[in-house]
Amino acid sequence: MGSMPNGAEKQHAVLIPYPAQGHINPMLHLAKLLHAQGFHITFVLTDFNYGRLVRSHTSDAVKGLPSFRFASIPDGLPPSSADATQDIPSLCQSTIDNFHAPFSHLLADLADDHLSPPVSCIVSDGVMTFTLDAAREFGIPEIFLWTASACGFVSYNHYRHLVDSGLVPLKDMDDVRNGTLEKEVDWVPGLMPGMRLRDFPSFIRTTDPDDIMLNYFIRETSRLPMASAIVLNTFDALENRALVAMQDILPPMYTVGPLSTLVRKSIPDENPLVDLTGSLWREDASCLEWLNGRPAGSVVYVNFGSITVMSTEELVEFAWGLANSGYNFLWIVRPDLVKGETPVLPSDFLEEIEERGMMVGWCDQEKVLEHPAVGVFLTHCGWNSTLESLCGGVPMICWPFFAEQQTNCRYARGDWGVGMEIGDDVKREKGKEMRRKAVEWKEIAGKATAFGGSSAVNLARLIEEVLSTTK
Ligand code: UDP
Repeated sequence: MGSMPNGAEKQHAVLIPYPAQGHINPMLHLAKLLHAQGFHITFVLTDFNYGRLVRSHTSDAVKGLPSFRFASIPDGLPPSSADATQDIPSLCQSTIDNFHAPFSHLLADLADDHLSPPVSCIVSDGVMTFTLDAAREFGIPEIFLWTASACGFVSYNHYRHLVDSGLVPLKDMDDVRNGTLEKEVDWVPGLMPGMRLRDFPSFIRTTDPDDIMLNYFIRETSRLPMASAIVLNTFDALENRALVAMQDILPPMYTVGPLSTLVRKSIPDENPLVDLTGSLWREDASCLEWLNGRPAGSVVYVNFGSITVMSTEELVEFAWGLANSGYNFLWIVRPDLVKGETPVLPSDFLEEIEERGMMVGWCDQEKVLEHPAVGVFLTHCGWNSTLESLCGGVPMICWPFFAEQQTNCRYARGDWGVGMEIGDDVKREKGKEMRRKAVEWKEIAGKATAFGGSSAVNLARLIEEVLSTTK
């Protein structure tokens, strides 16, 4: 497959993720896979994330990897503190209003840089379609990486029909209390039967026709077909129904997920790429040691991802819920989990859980989910977390907060059979069945990413059919 012939100039891919952890991770995995296949890589962050991520590297070039470079552009937002969660609607709007000019400048600088090969393709996040205009200006092909689920894409893509049919925006927020969200939506090609309005990504829960997020997703999904190819962090066996429907509306699609597993299987341990982390927070390894001392399957792992925020009251209430469950638990409390404040937990709670609870600010989630002590994952159902849970063979208790987490939760409970929603009344038998299904998905994901598996084959095809034929 596509390694560059000796002496030939390398292909140069410019990769630009949406500036959030759940988008940076899969894009970095794809960058590593391309680099391992001989590509020169420029990985573009916002200045804000660059300061957080590249601080552990000594320069834009990664140690031992001269042809893997980081670059950054401003995000157009007012400065915020290093650990603060950025406001997502402002950031989305800013990608449309402010990202194009600095990104074009960067491409112009790269064109003048005689030390790197000419840029041969742009791989951009599927919700950063401003890059299409820059690609056109420079005559460079553009590929999108859609970092959410395929069922998430089909659901977002259905937004405009929900608007056209008058269901969205909601008449008033009483609609939510009156059960409007519980109504089943007419069957949508590509989605599982029985989808209710509340299973659609959360941005329909608005009364404002000009809502930033609603319109952002309508715009971005409608621009996706303009790319040369779409890469997806999912695998065929998991989302076949959605993928088949997407084929009718999108350019050639390449399912290469779970990307983190594909990286692990394709890149040898001695390659310096292995140590290149995409974490925006510092990982605390003490929780892995703590897990080592716990019996197999005994720990509830709790993590709501990189964006979710809650109030102090919710935090405290949740803490007591965990304590009263009586289980061992590992709870990741991000330093910015409570908006505008440092999260503080009551001292009587800390005393109560001393023996069986562990809390740290950030962890290596994949390692945690692979640890035998972890029995269940209480998750917000972000797409990366969902995939990582499947790859660890760990069943899920779903507590979706926003975006397509609602959709992933619906599928985890339904099609995939690995999850229950928080508050569901579930019998022990169902728990066993969820675990059995999770282990089954782990095996299927393993096969998809192994030599000859669908995702491994699709990566080779992507390189051969799209990325190496350009320029
Ligand atoms: N993550 C991590 N350590 C943590 C919390 C999260 O490494 O303590 C990683 C997690 O493995 C996943 C990503 O951050 O790859 C979060 O992405 P996801 O799509 O699950 O949720 P989001 O943060 O976008 O809501």
